[in-house]
Amino acid sequence: MTGGSRGIGRATVLALAEAGADVAFTYSSNEEAAHDVCKAAEGYSGKVLAIQANAEDFAAAKSAVERVHDELGGLDGVVINAGITKDRPLVMMPEGDWDDVIATNLKGTFNYARAAVYGMIRERSGRIVCVSSVSGLTGVLGQSNYSATKAGQIGFVRSLSKEVGPYGITVNAVAPGFIETDIWEQIPENKREGILASIPVGRLGQAQEVAAAIRYLLSPDAAYITGSVLVIDGGLSS
Ligand code: NAD
Repeated sequence: MTGGSRGIGRATVLALAEAGADVAFTYSSNEEAAHDVCKAAEGYSGKVLAIQANAEDFAAAKSAVERVHDELGGLDGVVINAGITKDRPLVMMPEGDWDDVIATNLKGTFNYARAAVYGMIRERSGRIVCVSSVSGLTGVLGQSNYSATKAGQIGFVRSLSKEVGPYGITVNAVAPGFIETDIWEQIPENKREGILASIPVGRLGQAQEVAAAIRYLLSPDAAYITGSVLVIDGGLSS
């Protein structure tokens, strides 16, 4: 799991550990938040391992995957979740904001899938789940950089699923709508009411609701699902 220190990543780490899986997660810098996730999982049957690694760094992804093999005895699935937003109309968007969002969200996707897939091919089994967004399906005002990465992840998932299906590996995406995490806190208050009004079920999603969908895609029950995008958005994009 990349980006497991808070939000959807944290909820997924805890849901998997509670279900008895050993889970490793990466975080970028907040050691205290990472430690807190490990503490929250104490008492669960699964082991939880926190690894400091920047999603943008391929060498760090390779060594994180090696640590998982060494310390947890193998890697059954990878969840590519680390993501950032830097919203602004394109006409005002600095080149750096484009580059940063591509580097974390899309290069990070390559890094962890690439680092994990070789071992999965060798094992003839594996699960890859990308945390995309409805922003990649419908587009969102001011998110041209973010939407490009989230649509990119969906293309990535569809292509890779064709490459690795013959090796027993599934590759899917989840596409959350508006979920109540730190990303939501970055949305200006004057825009929040309009967003809530556009969600048919009339509320934000919870990180645990996305975690449950990810856990399902990682489970044996989802063995025949690949190249798919599971939308979790309270009806927003339908
Ligand atoms: P969040 O900001 O609460 O958490 C993001 C996580 O990613 C954190 O653990 C952070 O440390 C990690 N991260 C960020 N940059 C990193 C880097 N360079 N290297 C390593 N880790 C890094 O966000 P969230 O809302 O939990 O979002 C998680 C994923 O879900 C993202 O990919 C986001 O695009 C996607 N998503 C979120 C929403 C939403 O409404 N919250 C909706 C759709 C999709």
